[in-house]
Amino acid sequence: MSNAEWAARDLAVLWHPCTQMKDHESLPPIPVRHAAGAWLEDYEGRRYLDAISSWWVNLFGHCHPRIVAAQQRQVGQLDHVLLAGFTHEAAVTLCERLLALTPAGLSRCFFSDNGSSAVEVALKMSFHYWQNVGRPRKRRFMCLENGYHGETLGALAVGGIPLYRETYGPLLQEVIRAPSPDCYARPAGTTWEQHSRTQLRALETLLERHAEETCAVIVEPLVQCAGYMRMYHPIYLELLRAACDRYEVHLIADEIAVGFGRTGTLFACEQAGISPDILCLSKGLTGGTLPLAMTLCREPMYQAFYDDYQELKAFLHSHSYCGNAIACATALAVLDLFEEEPVLERIRHLGSVLEREAAVLAEHPNVAEVRRHGLILAAEMVRDKADREAFPWQERRGLRVHRHALKQGVLLRPLGDVIYFMPPYIVHEDELRLMVQAALQGIEHAVHD
Ligand SMILES: *Cc1c(COP(=O)(O)O)cnc(C)c1O
Repeated sequence: MSNAEWAARDLAVLWHPCTQMKDHESLPPIPVRHAAGAWLEDYEGRRYLDAISSWWVNLFGHCHPRIVAAQQRQVGQLDHVLLAGFTHEAAVTLCERLLALTPAGLSRCFFSDNGSSAVEVALKMSFHYWQNVGRPRKRRFMCLENGYHGETLGALAVGGIPLYRETYGPLLQEVIRAPSPDCYARPAGTTWEQHSRTQLRALETLLERHAEETCAVIVEPLVQCAGYMRMYHPIYLELLRAACDRYEVHLIADEIAVGFGRTGTLFACEQAGISPDILCLSKGLTGGTLPLAMTLCREPMYQAFYDDYQELKAFLHSHSYCGNAIACATALAVLDLFEEEPVLERIRHLGSVLEREAAVLAEHPNVAEVRRHGLILAAEMVRDKADREAFPWQERRGLRVHRHALKQGVLLRPLGDVIYFMPPYIVHEDELRLMVQAALQGIEHAVHD
């Protein structure tokens, strides 16, 4: 079978995620036959460097032998068992090990199977907690402009990206939305730290007014990934933690994208020295191989549900594949890799190499900013560098970069006109160079016509 044959069969039966299917008339889906390390290979032997870790999930490359071996061991032992009334070694061990690694104070793990569900669990848990402790007026959530927490209706409601959210507006609960800490929007002459402090004060004003009716504030620590890789300073999280304590509102940290080393620390919250009331994890949890998600919380949260059955305080939430044994065994293999190899050091090193290489992007007349946290680096492609004027979105310049980079053998998938790199941690330095060159040529190609 050739690429074209697979694409034709695909287009007869599939409906792809986050895609206007009509786009495939000019760029058919690429069938991947095989993947190893940071590389994907199609049916005609063409290779693509996976510069975005297959939507931010892959940490150690594709088909990592240690991960594959752990999965094979588990498949032959126990595939899956319901997690209500039953348990298993992989789930128990995973919870023990994660609680030892995550920020202090978290003491309980709830399983689900994708990031959006982990967020739904967090929202329901927080709301239900306040019900159980006799604060029924607390029923709203505070979230950030430009935030992203997934696509299910609860998670979408606390998201702040109009493109994903607006169509479904009538279906979504009302939320309280605070301005984004996004430092790309800072006034000229201000530092990231100053801007993050200012934006936090705006959120505090809202808390002052709404704390009585607010269950929780939900944020993506340090990087609003789906929101065009916009970044902010850790001081924001530090001050937010203090404000949430002062106003008796939960802090939900959605580390689904930034967790597991992405920003240079195992969890992004560490850079602010804070611990959330609820932590959401998924994506990198299984190294990008199987769906698994977890929602971690503190002991008082858990205790507020712990009572005689007749009190009807139990958290009656479940998913069929909660704590799937193969997925849990996979996550354990991922934790082994973090434990046995100097992964965080490597991430920090690669991050600084990437930044050095990407200096050529910053110099480009159509790039307004290059920014980085850990091993996430993003470049803002604009029409006018001086006043940061964007290209009209209808022109889809970012898509042109994507198409051009594919021809160079690099998978970039810009968010609008923001070109970013988020490679697996096993990427080589010369591969970083290749990514940057593909982006540079792609931008050059995309801005002229
Ligand atoms: C991807 C993502 C989600 C949603 O996870 P899914 O597994 O795609 O449902 C939630 N929050 C953040 C920050 C994400 O990046």
